[in-house]
Amino acid sequence: MRILLASSEVYPFSKTGGLADVAGALPEALVKLGHEVLVVSPWYKTLKAKNPPLWIGDEWVPFDNHIETCGIGVLEQNGVTYGFVGHPYFQRDSLYGYSDDVKRFCLFTRAIPQLGARLNFVPDLIHANDWHTGYLPMLLEHGWHMPEGYVRKPSVFTIHNVQYQGNSSLDETLNWLRLPGFLRDSYMNYFGSANAMQAGLGFADKVTTVSPTYAEEIKTTTYGYGLDGTMRHISDKLSGIVNGIDTDIWNPATDRYITQTYTAKSLKKKDLNKQALCQRFKLDPSKPIIAVVSRLVDQKGIDVFIDAATELLWQDWNVFVLGSGEPALEAALSSLTARNPGRFASFIGYDETLAHLVYAGAESLAIPSRFEPCGLTQLIAMRYGNIPIARATGGLVDTISPSETGFLFEHLTVKGLLWATKVARDAFDNTSFWQKMMKNAMSKDFSWERSAKTYVDLYQSITGIEA
Ligand code: ADP
Repeated sequence: MRILLASSEVYPFSKTGGLADVAGALPEALVKLGHEVLVVSPWYKTLKAKNPPLWIGDEWVPFDNHIETCGIGVLEQNGVTYGFVGHPYFQRDSLYGYSDDVKRFCLFTRAIPQLGARLNFVPDLIHANDWHTGYLPMLLEHGWHMPEGYVRKPSVFTIHNVQYQGNSSLDETLNWLRLPGFLRDSYMNYFGSANAMQAGLGFADKVTTVSPTYAEEIKTTTYGYGLDGTMRHISDKLSGIVNGIDTDIWNPATDRYITQTYTAKSLKKKDLNKQALCQRFKLDPSKPIIAVVSRLVDQKGIDVFIDAATELLWQDWNVFVLGSGEPALEAALSSLTARNPGRFASFIGYDETLAHLVYAGAESLAIPSRFEPCGLTQLIAMRYGNIPIARATGGLVDTISPSETGFLFEHLTVKGLLWATKVARDAFDNTSFWQKMMKNAMSKDFSWERSAKTYVDLYQSITGIEA
């Protein structure tokens, strides 16, 4: 099959979160299964590529009542073709966070078929991801000036996080996308304004999200962020497929970023990573470390973790936090670090290399998320024999087996979290039990291959094409 996957971020070129990991790893897994994949993403100012994409020229993109010029870049890597859309809209310091974000990604969405056609890539199916490309299925169905091979193409839309929906004015959005006015009364209309995520839900042939539990949760008012009614309405075409991780990048046996590589058979060697982490951040190495690797935002429940921190130290954990995000949370973590030398340490910032050492060096990883569509950190942690202690929500429920590969708690309160950390801390003192958990966790298969096969089944169910 020929698959075009559109994403606003893709690892290793751009990344703010798990979406980039998925857009980076799923195409490679699909290629290994014998499919042809074109990944389309913006060419950001901050694009991280060993060799820059090859600039193959400009393309005319119908946009905002005129024709806009976008540059096209191409790169081949591990069998996957990457197409990058270049425009001043993406030459900014950050990927997102601007008042014209919806307009920027409407231009990106509009440029995707143009880019594909320029590369002579006629897809059998188009896979859009999150609100940034939410209008793509609608565009395929109703767009004017669409290149040959793109009109009414089957589409899949994947929700990675329903909290971010891409809201804008209906009339402006239709102008940006150059779509007919009758669509004002379609799925893009959310109580009188345009909603990119809802358009994706409505117009795609199939909708997936990144875990079966999250697929159920988003049909409820607590987790649906206002789209629960729509989710219930489209539930016949909604399913959950758990993410994998890139098991080459995240492999304790070969990891170049950790102090000492190890396997489930040489767990003692893992200690050298702990010592390195303790040395670098001046932590007392005699106590187990409970770590956090996370964006510091409301979703992740870091506020609750901070409120529980002092008591975590009393439970005889040391704490290490790697994260960046909301300034108030960053300040609270810096303050805890200053007040608890030797016991609490933090690194405020985004640091991939350090993340590897934290997964390898800490004994446990806390994930107190309010909601978690899939979560990758628990998968990575388990692969490194680092035992996750997580809130029982979304993909965390689907991937962690309580008391076998990790610990789950229901109530996101200081009490709820501390209950679980105490159970885990007691389990840690039972050395043989803990070692067994580490081995169980490390033996789990979180590779993309399995998930990619499920996506292929789904693609086949829409296109009718056999692999
Ligand atoms: P989300 O996509 O909601 O941020 P996920 O658990 O799905 O959460 O993915 C988070 C990814 O980002 C993981 O690969 C994790 O290691 C990485 N990550 C998060 N915060 C940091 C940080 N401060 N430094 C390095 N890597 C981080």
